[in-house]
Amino acid sequence: MKGKAGKTPRAAKPLSIPPAISGRTRIAAVFGDPVEHSLSPAMHNAAYAALGLDRAYVAFHVMSHALADAIGAIPALGIIGVNLTVPHKEAAVPMVRALSDEAKLLGAVNCIVNRGGELFGDNSDARGLERDLRARRVNIRGKTAIVIGAGGAGAAAILACSRLGANEIILANRTRERAEALAERLRASPEMPALAVRGLDALNDRALLSEVAAIINATSMGLTTDRFAKLDYALTPANCFFYDTVYSAEPTAFLKPAIALGRRYADGAGMLAGQGEIAFELFNGVAPPRGLMMRVLMERLGRA
Ligand code: NAP
Repeated sequence: MKGKAGKTPRAAKPLSIPPAISGRTRIAAVFGDPVEHSLSPAMHNAAYAALGLDRAYVAFHVMSHALADAIGAIPALGIIGVNLTVPHKEAAVPMVRALSDEAKLLGAVNCIVNRGGELFGDNSDARGLERDLRARRVNIRGKTAIVIGAGGAGAAAILACSRLGANEIILANRTRERAEALAERLRASPEMPALAVRGLDALNDRALLSEVAAIINATSMGLTTDRFAKLDYALTPANCFFYDTVYSAEPTAFLKPAIALGRRYADGAGMLAGQGEIAFELFNGVAPPRGLMMRVLMERLGRA
């Protein structure tokens, strides 16, 4: 084929293959649908590079109908570990050989560790959130916390609040039955304090809001609608902490009014980094460099 000017084009430069990829490179991955937006490959690969490990982390677009096949292929491919994201965390529970107590309690798996061909399901979301809240010195010991949302993120937030010593947790959710079912399961945990279920009307309860120490949004509200449910932010104490498990480049719809009132706040980037650090250690037997995953996230979100 001739080039534009009628000359034979020069041979293309050799493909640039990152030096970390070799015949010996071991793979870790995330399965999700969608998965293209996932920041996990950036976080994990930065840690591999920093530690000089001959490993790589990739994203696989796995649809629900193919999840069992994809999980079944982990031992055959020698994949060391897999993170699961939306919508696979609950569906994967019966697809692994053994479950951690935490995955059983949460009813969801967000990481699968390949232990010599046997798949072990764990869930690092609650520990990731707990790690982030502790790092931010959020103090809810002996106090009341509100968790909004009764999916996997809500369950993780309730567990994190209980480990931070909350005296009482209010689970507020649009669908009461779903929240009741979750609360019933979580009450089986010996570490669980008083756990009450409310509708979203709790977000306007003057007496409750006046004594709440932290409010955690564990819903996708604000993503699925153009605004967050009505919450009377001004009724909360000045030191009330607002946390959104959702993260983005800009403050979320849940956080904006709290920021306007000068309340302390954080979004779920720290939770994502925290669960990633825990998963990395489970997969590789070594912790990633401290703070590296959070720095990568901040860069990727344009917040560095
Ligand atoms: P999920 O199982 O689908 O649950 C979604 C929750 O949001 C339910 O409680 C649902 O209420 C509620 N909801 C959704 N749209 C609503 C609306 N328009 N009005 C009122 N309630 C609404 O999801 P999930 O896995 O728990 O995840 C929830 C959020 O947490 C997601 O946005 C996810 O990105 C985030 N998350 C972040 C991390 C992290 O590392 N930062 C980890 C996990 C999840 P109903 O029960 O009434 O439907």
